[in-house]
Amino acid sequence: QPKTPARTRFAPSPTGLLHIGSLRTALYNYLLAKSTGGSFLLRLEDTDQNRLVPGAEKNIYESLSWCGIHYDEGPGVNDEKNGPFRQSDRTEIYQRYTNKLLDSGHAYRCFCTKERLDGLRESAQKLQPPTTASYDRQCSHLSEEQVRVKLDQKVPFTIRLKSPEKYPPFEDLLHGKLDMQPQINLNDRRYDDPILVKSDALPTYHFANVVDDHLMDITHVVRGEEWLPSTPKHIALYHAFGWNPPQFIHIPLLTSATDKKLSKRKGDADVMALRTKGVLPEALVNFSVLFGWSPPREEAAKNHECFSLPDLVRLFNLNNLTKGNAKV
Ligand code: GLU
Repeated sequence: QPKTPARTRFAPSPTGLLHIGSLRTALYNYLLAKSTGGSFLLRLEDTDQNRLVPGAEKNIYESLSWCGIHYDEGPGVNDEKNGPFRQSDRTEIYQRYTNKLLDSGHAYRCFCTKERLDGLRESAQKLQPPTTASYDRQCSHLSEEQVRVKLDQKVPFTIRLKSPEKYPPFEDLLHGKLDMQPQINLNDRRYDDPILVKSDALPTYHFANVVDDHLMDITHVVRGEEWLPSTPKHIALYHAFGWNPPQFIHIPLLTSATDKKLSKRKGDADVMALRTKGVLPEALVNFSVLFGWSPPREEAAKNHECFSLPDLVRLFNLNNLTKGNAKV
């Protein structure tokens, strides 16, 4: 548990209804901030235009505020219209930071066609051993002149991070030290080189997420375990910028009894639907928090029927998070 005020954020993508798995992530971030006298931010990660679902943003506000979770900062704090931080309002910022990486040589423009990239991906899978890093880095060798010609010809491009030879190991507060590398085939060098900016000039999740966490002074990132494989890329980006990464806490997934991940696309246990069914917000907050966190033993022994949100703020401590998957 941090000794100084933590700044945390909940960063949902408005791609579906808020379900209890995401509510739990929001709650842990909220509780960590409030239990240390810090701040909790809400940031909508809405740069993937193809995946946006109309009404999802509104559903996120409604669900959070029904549960009593209010955010502390944003262009219009807790005001639905001007709302919290929204990545689609911040594209100029991302552009500025893209240019920094291009200038420092940590990133490069990739003009390869979809066909070429598909071919590379296919051949990477056939390598022995197969590799998940599939790009041959052809475009990183273009001269300035070649790049200029392609830009003049308006050839579409993405921007890629020149990933390090080896991703740096990192510390997760729940899992300890982790060293996660993409599988590399040494005879046929391919690279991960994650895309930072798509051909529609919008940033990818990785890029916008890191730039924002840095600019918003986030000290602790609490998010689902499904983001663990992204974290080495994020750390590489922090290093490329010369920034210190925040602390990471990857929480186990909330799974259904059949062991499948709860999925927002299937509408599993979405918060507003539970409200319609008559579930009370306090009950839902308790239910979600207690899947993966337990109060200190002396409090548990007091046999509370239900912890209020202020109770949870008082009792919350990162050390009481559990590592195993939580089954609903
Ligand atoms: N936008 C991501 C999501 O939908 C955020 C992941 C993170 O917290 O970094 O879950």
